Amino acid sequence: MNDYDVVIVGGGMVGSMLAAALATRDGLGASLKIALLENRAPEPFEPGSDPKYDIRVSALSAATQAMFENVGAWQGIVNRRACPYREMLVWDGEAHGRTHFKSSEVNMPELGHIVENRVMQLALLDRLLTLDNVDYLCPVSLQGYQLVDQGVVCDLSDGHKSITASLLVGADGAQSTVRSLAGIEVERQAYPQHALVATIQTVLPQQDITWQRFQPTGPEAFLPLCGNFASMVWYHDEEEVDRLRNLSDEDFIDEMEQAFPEELGGIHKLLERGSFPIAKAHAEHYITDRVALIGDAAHTVHPLAGQGVNLGMLDAAALTDVVADAHSAGHDIGGRRQLRKYERWRRGENSIMISVLDGFYHAFKPQATAFQKVRSAALNIADSAGPLKRFVMHYALGTSGQLPTLAKKSFKGIRSNQE
Ligand SMILES: Cc1cc2nc3c(=O)[nH]c(=O)nc-3n(C[C@H](O)[C@H](O)[C@H](O)COP(=O)(O)OP(=O)(O)OC[C@H]3O[C@@H](n4cnc5c(N)ncnc54)[C@H](O)[C@@H]3O)c2cc1C
Repeated sequence: MNDYDVVIVGGGMVGSMLAAALATRDGLGASLKIALLENRAPEPFEPGSDPKYDIRVSALSAATQAMFENVGAWQGIVNRRACPYREMLVWDGEAHGRTHFKSSEVNMPELGHIVENRVMQLALLDRLLTLDNVDYLCPVSLQGYQLVDQGVVCDLSDGHKSITASLLVGADGAQSTVRSLAGIEVERQAYPQHALVATIQTVLPQQDITWQRFQPTGPEAFLPLCGNFASMVWYHDEEEVDRLRNLSDEDFIDEMEQAFPEELGGIHKLLERGSFPIAKAHAEHYITDRVALIGDAAHTVHPLAGQGVNLGMLDAAALTDVVADAHSAGHDIGGRRQLRKYERWRRGENSIMISVLDGFYHAFKPQATAFQKVRSAALNIADSAGPLKRFVMHYALGTSGQLPTLAKKSFKGIRSNQE
């Protein structure tokens, strides 16, 4: 008898979602016992106490929102902070191409929400702490594991005994320890771009819209946060990002104001700035004996279209379907035959998204002037061709493709392109 059915390493957004999904899955009746290991607890966030903004924010798709609702963690987000956006403007800064997406075009109340990463983690954690079949072990990290008959023995960081499970899941991010311990190779390619992210206070209140401009130096994005706050992302080469990081607040604000459209109004205050290297990576396998990888442990994508965490959430939901089916049928949930179903499902879909985002990067990269007319025409066509535009929107909303149960259950009253 193993201590747990599933041990998940990494209590970030994706690992926490998997724990909540497996523990609350209809039909399993809380029969799976789950351990979630996290080595660093998220900073607390007390609603009403004007907590500091997390510099890491994500644009959540409708599919991801449905998952939060279905595991009972969406209210935990709303009670803290989430900013819905109903429009998305994408244009080419060097030519005349532009596309304006509106939620009304796909009968959705909004296109998505901008949510701080820490808020997502905390909302899921609140939910997990109400579930008897989940143990949240923090701060704990995985040191190693061995395969034994019918399971894995996981060696934990100092002071914690080893635990056994039928299935070990790596949700431990881009530098995944589980992936290395399992000997799974990863194909990684750094982009010659870094992202400079800044949290700002704006003069105007937020306008329900995300802005993305493609410049010869790289994309620039403006994401609304609640009230008069916003997150700005500038993609540039490393040198330029370093220069921007080291400017005084006043000079930085001046440059930002010049770069972003006038409609956004002025910047009142800079709260924080940070930078991240950008890379695409794909694990050669998502599974091996008794091990599965999800989220950034399995893949990272260029963040220009805000898809990274949304893809990871779909991995968590798909793995939940596969584990639930195996468990209900009395099969071994860590068996390769079962896990292969997960790998076939998600690796194919993620490969497509990695290629699409890589294509965007190359079409808009600084040296891509030869593509200028084509990409401008493509943006204009996407804007005027109704069915094509709706297809692209459903793709971004996460409501197309083979949706796992958790992601489709609550599109109640919302028309998806699967209907
Ligand atoms: C600039 C930028 C902007 C982005 N914007 C968006 C966006 O708008 N929308 C979007 O969908 N995505 C976006 N992304 C991508 C998104 O941030 C990632 O895809 C997401 O964080 C992946 O979540 P995860 O839970 O898989 O991994 P992580 O967030 O990396 O979480 C991994 C967790 O595992 C823990 N951990 C690691 N090792 C161990 C160990 N050995 N033992 C125990 N715990 C461990 C870590 O502490 C962490 O909590 C962006 C990324 C960047 C760089």
